[in-house]
Formats: sequence, structure tokens, C-alpha cells
Amino acid sequence: MTTTPTVRRRGATADEPPQGPDILCDNLVRIYRAEGIEVVALQGLDLTVGRGELVALVGASGSGKSTLLGILSGLDTPSAGLARVAGHDLSTTDRRARLEYRRRTVGFLFQQAGANLLPYLTAAENVELPMLLAGVRRRERATRARDTLEVLGIAECADRRPAELSGGQQQRVALGVAVANRPRVLLADEPTGELDTRSSDEVFEAIRRANSELGTTVLVVTHDPLVSEHVARTVAIRDGRTSTEVLRRDGGHPAEEYAVLDRAGRLQLPRAFTASLQMRDRVRLDLEPDHIGVWPAAPRPEEDS
Ligand code: ADP
Ligand code: MG
Repeated sequence: MTTTPTVRRRGATADEPPQGPDILCDNLVRIYRAEGIEVVALQGLDLTVGRGELVALVGASGSGKSTLLGILSGLDTPSAGLARVAGHDLSTTDRRARLEYRRRTVGFLFQQAGANLLPYLTAAENVELPMLLAGVRRRERATRARDTLEVLGIAECADRRPAELSGGQQQRVALGVAVANRPRVLLADEPTGELDTRSSDEVFEAIRRANSELGTTVLVVTHDPLVSEHVARTVAIRDGRTSTEVLRRDGGHPAEEYAVLDRAGRLQLPRAFTASLQMRDRVRLDLEPDHIGVWPAAPRPEEDS
């Protein structure tokens, strides 16, 4: 497998057209401070998600995934760097604008399906609730709720209460609640974490449908590396930084792995690559007409055999 650095346009300038990426993180930093101890949860994270894209973010527990979603959802603010979603700069937005942003621009899906559902309302009523709060008229609410459940493959669950639904169905209703007001961006934090494989596949399929049929831009976080088999683009997060990307094209091509190249030209080589060639401390670079060669540095005298 070859690793090709992706060069992506990044811009924090005011003249960027409004149809820029839906999610843009540039050198994003979040430091937690508690009783004199500092935890750097995000250390210069770069991420670009285009309008209408579905991107999976995978990483081990503690790698900073929830911290990132907390910032993108407007609950938390970055310590440094840029986070922009659908034109909203989340490092400068004031509290009222942030509330408005949370109501209109983004939808959320969490691990516990129940957290998004009211137990005494039916699935359709649950999906209607955010529309009611947004002032959508009754007939429009009912139509859109049915449409939403249909798109997510749970039309038959419309009149059932959460207790009468399986875990996977509950999570799909919760997804319906999240996209009821047709947010531009859906943020999902380990939405299949508590589900068996079959339910998990159903929920993923519903997320894909929300993306393709409703046009929602989706960032879905997971610690399950197998997810990359289901989505076109998977970004790996490690130690609070995005490291590699796997792009999967249709038509049976093998997935291609990319490394993220930041604005300063920094590139993280996959550990498996550097380990197999015993690259350490420094490498030799050669600029070729169409690529850059990376070579192990000459062995040090004590390693000579
Ligand atoms: P993930 O969602 O990938 O498991 P998190 O974003 O929850 O990772 O956490 C990233 C790092 O930040 C971890 O080391 C975690 O312990 C730390 N962390 C998360 N939230 C807080 C907090 N409120 N205070 C202090 N440290 C935190
Ligand atoms: Mg988490």
C-alpha cells in the first residue's frame, strides 16, 4: 500500500465563499485543566468535511473524539485553533448565537438512544417534538415525521413507544429526532456502541440514508475500525490529532490510505510503516517529479554490522 499525502485547501480568511466545507478544524487545541493537572485532549487537530459528505472518525478510547464533538456541537469551546461549522466560527460565537446554532444548524445522536427519546411519546410524536419547538405547523409536522421514519426504515414503528422498540429501532428513532428539523450537519458520538452487530448495521444504514436522502453532512465517531468498510472516508484520530485517512471508492477498488498534511507541512507516518523500515528520529527526503521519497537515515555507527 502506498501512502500519499493529501494536500487540501484550508482557509481561515474572510473572503472564503460561504459554500466552503461544512466542518473545518484547523490546528484545533483543547486543554482541560483540573487541580493543577493539564490534559491536552486535542493537540492541533486538522479536519475538513465537505458539504454532503459522510465521514467516520475512528480512534481508541481517550483519543479526543468526544472532546472534538463537544466543540463542534457548541457545548464546549476550543483552547486555541479554528473550528468552523457551516460558516459558524465556534471559537468566537457568543452564548446566544451558540444556542441558535445548536437549535438550527446541528443535530446530535449519542450512544444511549433513550437519552434522546421521551418514553411516553410514540416514535412519530418524538420526531415531531423538535419541530413543535421550532414552530412548525401541525400538518407539516405529521408529514415530515412520517417521511423521516420512512427514510430511516422504521415507518412501521411510528405509533409505538420506545419501550416497545428494539435497541436498534430506538436509536433510529433518536436519529429521526436529530434530523427532524433538517439540520445541515449531524454529529453522532458512538451511536452503535451499545448495539449488537445486526442492529448496529441497521443504524449505520439509517445514518447513510439520512446523508444521501436528506443531504445531511455527517460526522460519526466510533471506536470500531470495521466501520471504514461501510463508509467512503474514514479519518483516524490518535492522541488528539488526525493521523491517517482511508478512502474507499466504489467499484471494488481497494481502499487507499492517506496521511493528513497540515498547513505547516507536518505529516504523521503510520507507525507500521516506520517500524517496518526501522525509521527513527530522522529520515532522508528526496523530491521526485511526481512524489516525495522517504528513506531511512544511514545507520548509526553502533548499529553497523
Ligand atoms: P474519546 O471520546 O476518544 O474516548 P475524550 O475526548 O473523551 O476521548 O477524552 C480525551 C482525553 O481528555 C482523555 O485523556 C480524557 O481523560 C480527557 N478528558 C476528557 N474530558 C475531560 C474533562 N472534562 N476534564 C479533564 N480531562 C478530560
Ligand atoms: Mg468518547
